[in-house]
Amino acid sequence: MPTVKTDLRIYKNNLREKYKKIRKNLSCEKKSVFDNKIFERIISLRYYKECNTVLTYVSNSIEVDTHRLIEYSLSCGKLVAVPKCVAGTREMEFYLIKSFNDLEVATFSVLEPKVNQCEKLTQFSQSVCIVPGLAFDIRGYRLGYGKGYYDRFLNKYDLPKFGICYTLCTQTKLINGKYDKPVDLLITDKYTHKTEFKGDF
Ligand code: ADP
Ligand code: MG
Repeated sequence: MPTVKTDLRIYKNNLREKYKKIRKNLSCEKKSVFDNKIFERIISLRYYKECNTVLTYVSNSIEVDTHRLIEYSLSCGKLVAVPKCVAGTREMEFYLIKSFNDLEVATFSVLEPKVNQCEKLTQFSQSVCIVPGLAFDIRGYRLGYGKGYYDRFLNKYDLPKFGICYTLCTQTKLINGKYDKPVDLLITDKYTHKTEFKGDF
């Protein structure tokens, strides 16, 4: 008999397929326009301008681009830290990178920091976290790839969290599980939406 937990897993897996397809079908031209809009929105935020450290994923070809944000943040003199999945766990750690030369192809074909040449981030003050998602809802809840890495990390991360996503991959409400963590701000190509966060961005 299906349980609430297996029902939620099936529901999320169906949505993952839906949103992966939407992202794959986005033309390069549209993607580039959307990526630029999201980039401009991020860098115009007061919290971004004032932060010292940007925690961000490193995008692949179908995710919202973060390469431009990484380059721009480094050029502004900010620290940039990117995640490394810890082998044998569903935890991730962030390492400071100085350039794209500090990255290598790792788990799930994702670009990750070369841990032997990068410093692990242990001090998160004055940072913001750019959170990826296959989809988000307007409350800030996200659908990830299904391993819960960001849920585990965000559970311990109490600073501004910005979810970035194409408007095409948003919906009014995603059913969430008990470990799902909402972001404070949802940034898409069309809007910047405050979710739980009460501060002034
Ligand atoms: P994603 O967030 O990547 O879309 P899910 O939300 O489906 O993935 O989470 C994947 C699995 O990880 C789920 O079984 C979820 O219950 C589990 N999980 C997430 N966060 C935690 C946590 N902090 N502690 C224990 N299990 C967790
Ligand atoms: Mg989750």
